[in-house]
Amino acid sequence: MSSAFVCPNCGSQAVSTFYEVKNIPIHSCIMLPTRQEALDFPKGNIALGFCKECGFISNTVFDSSVINYSSIYEDQQSFSSTFNVFAEGLAKRLIEKYDLHGKKIVEIGCGKGDFLALLCELGDNFGVGIDPAYIKDRVQSKVSDRLTFIQDYYSEKYANIHGDLICCRHTFEHIPNTFEFLSNVRQAIGNRLDTIVFFELPDVTRVLREIAFWDIYHEHCSYFSPGSLARLFRSCQFEIIDLSKDFGDQYILIEARPVSRRAEKMHELEESVEELSNDVKYFSTHCREKLDQWKKRLHQIADGRRAVVWGSGSKCVSFMTTFGVKDEIEYVIDINPFRHGKYLPGAGKQVMPPEFLRKYKPDIVIVMNPIYYAEIRQMLDDMDITTEVMSI
Ligand SMILES: [Zn+2]
Repeated sequence: MSSAFVCPNCGSQAVSTFYEVKNIPIHSCIMLPTRQEALDFPKGNIALGFCKECGFISNTVFDSSVINYSSIYEDQQSFSSTFNVFAEGLAKRLIEKYDLHGKKIVEIGCGKGDFLALLCELGDNFGVGIDPAYIKDRVQSKVSDRLTFIQDYYSEKYANIHGDLICCRHTFEHIPNTFEFLSNVRQAIGNRLDTIVFFELPDVTRVLREIAFWDIYHEHCSYFSPGSLARLFRSCQFEIIDLSKDFGDQYILIEARPVSRRAEKMHELEESVEELSNDVKYFSTHCREKLDQWKKRLHQIADGRRAVVWGSGSKCVSFMTTFGVKDEIEYVIDINPFRHGKYLPGAGKQVMPPEFLRKYKPDIVIVMNPIYYAEIRQMLDDMDITTEVMSI
């Protein structure tokens, strides 16, 4: 029991540590220009703590002072058709469900602005996006005259920016002070009770049940389950409209509206703290076993065969550094052109475009996210590359 740590969701001190990783890169989406800089990239530690009171899981040794989401943060996912189909379907669903036409949309943590542009194009809406990693003109949109971007962190400073929809995707898991952040969002809404709030973030129950340790990395300090997320939303005076999972059950989607008095109604997807506690026990009991299995597997793969990893995002950085991958894998493949030729923090592996595989001729391609398996298989077939393809 780490007595000094206070749960950022509920304020309880009943937080116990169940998983630790030392010396992993503090950032996993920043690509480095040289191998040496990648190897020397600053490291941090993880000690995941489980709150017995509210079920929230967080990195109890997270140091936010070392984090800097500048514009060299390369997290754009919209180069993949699989991802784009998902994002477009989601945008259409939100527009239809909440009649978002000619409305104002605020996106907190909009990245390069892809999703906000999509919502504004498909529904003739107006958008304001806030993100420190925003890069001007990266996303070309035919409605750019209706889009405003602020290259900054969201804070109380922006409480005067109101939207009919407040959207926040893949950002909340990077925020250490979760209650404070969501309370700021709620306070900014004030008495505009018809505002819709939509958050999307990874589901920790899947990580725990699949022992997907590659989904645990330093940038993610906060790990939510449907239950712990819904409980936090209620404690910040929101009522849950809907709670669902998507993208191969990897993401939790929450739709909520502000209320003036605390809502009590639970959603059927919410698990209890006790159920979550069982998942945590399962993870911590079998984690070592799974790590050993993978080490053995990598050793076998590397024995006379050429292996590459496909997908250079955070999962890959975590996978490589948790194992300390050395010569077993030389290159990482990615379709994002802004990553090509650069090096992965920590592991120091170079990121190459798919075409590179024509001459490299790998024996095995390890796909970092099973949801992209079919898309990757197709690209390899189109390039006439014969190789074994496996998902983690
Ligand atoms: Zn808690």
